Amino acid sequence: RDPNVKKPEWLRQRAPQGERFEEVKESISRLNLNTVCQEAQCPNIGECWNGGGDGIATATIMVLGDTCTRGCRFCAVKTSRTPPPPDPMEPLNTALAIASWGVDYIVITSVDRDDIPDGGSGHFAQTVRAMKELKPEIMVECLTSDFRGDLKAVDTLVHSGLDVFAHNVETVKRLQRIVRDPRAGYEQSLSVLKHAKISKKGMITKTSIMLGLGETDDEVKEAMADLRAIDVDILTFGQYLQFNTAKAFVKLSCYVVVMYLFDSGSLSSQYETAYLLQPTPLHLTVKEYVSPEKFAYWKEYGESIGFRYVASGPLVRSSYRAGELFVKTMVK
Ligand code: SF4
Ligand code: SF4
Repeated sequence: RDPNVKKPEWLRQRAPQGERFEEVKESISRLNLNTVCQEAQCPNIGECWNGGGDGIATATIMVLGDTCTRGCRFCAVKTSRTPPPPDPMEPLNTALAIASWGVDYIVITSVDRDDIPDGGSGHFAQTVRAMKELKPEIMVECLTSDFRGDLKAVDTLVHSGLDVFAHNVETVKRLQRIVRDPRAGYEQSLSVLKHAKISKKGMITKTSIMLGLGETDDEVKEAMADLRAIDVDILTFGQYLQFNTAKAFVKLSCYVVVMYLFDSGSLSSQYETAYLLQPTPLHLTVKEYVSPEKFAYWKEYGESIGFRYVASGPLVRSSYRAGELFVKTMVK
């Protein structure tokens, strides 16, 4: 079947709302911060910013610019061989903004910067240090590139004071070459995660796998076994989907017109995130909509083989309610 035809019901989300959400949103616009949560119009924004059941508000920010030196086939980020150099003031400015912001857990991520000798690891580390200095109680997760397998770069970041080192393997072994840029790779990603774990005692490591790209159950189990073998603590599974700006714009415009004409409060609360199956026709197609039951199965299976925490669901992203996940991992 053509999965473009009908999007399953479980991919619909309600409009984000809540006291904490409004508070975080207000401080973001006051401080003029750019979050991945807003830029990507992430469907989890209500849950993450409200802090879910545990009240630990999480947000994700991006450093090192918006242009990647790689080109993975699932990703819609801008690419260039020579992106502009990083802003040397970014670590301090980011830390100052976040210190005065109402979140408890921050995920710092970036594009890949193969053009910088250390892959941007020093820049990441400076940001973490400045943040911890200004607001020691904030929990920090870095979701990093593979630094081209440069383990010294991994060391730099692991010893910067961060709480969680995250790097995504993205997919199963067989699909790596199809899904990711050729400069990335399964073994390279495993070596980065393994090194982060052994480089600092007690380091929490985390990774993420997208489902719906044509992987088999056996291949998922093989990846999980490989990740357990290097003692990865937290694993997340989500459905491969990408936001399509043009479609979203049309859809949201229609809502605005309908709301203007009919002043319908119920419609305004029925916000639906507009997704397309891939960012452009050149990107990978979704092979399968994995059911919520199957996601629940992977959570149960993952925790039964020793992951300290598995978050698994159609709309789960690597940073989904990351603060709560971290705290739950620590008390397990
Ligand atoms: Fe996108 Fe990351 Fe791949 Fe760059 S390395 S293209 S940001 S997924
Ligand atoms: Fe932000 Fe990540 Fe949560 Fe999405 S999943 S709202 S990007 S913290």
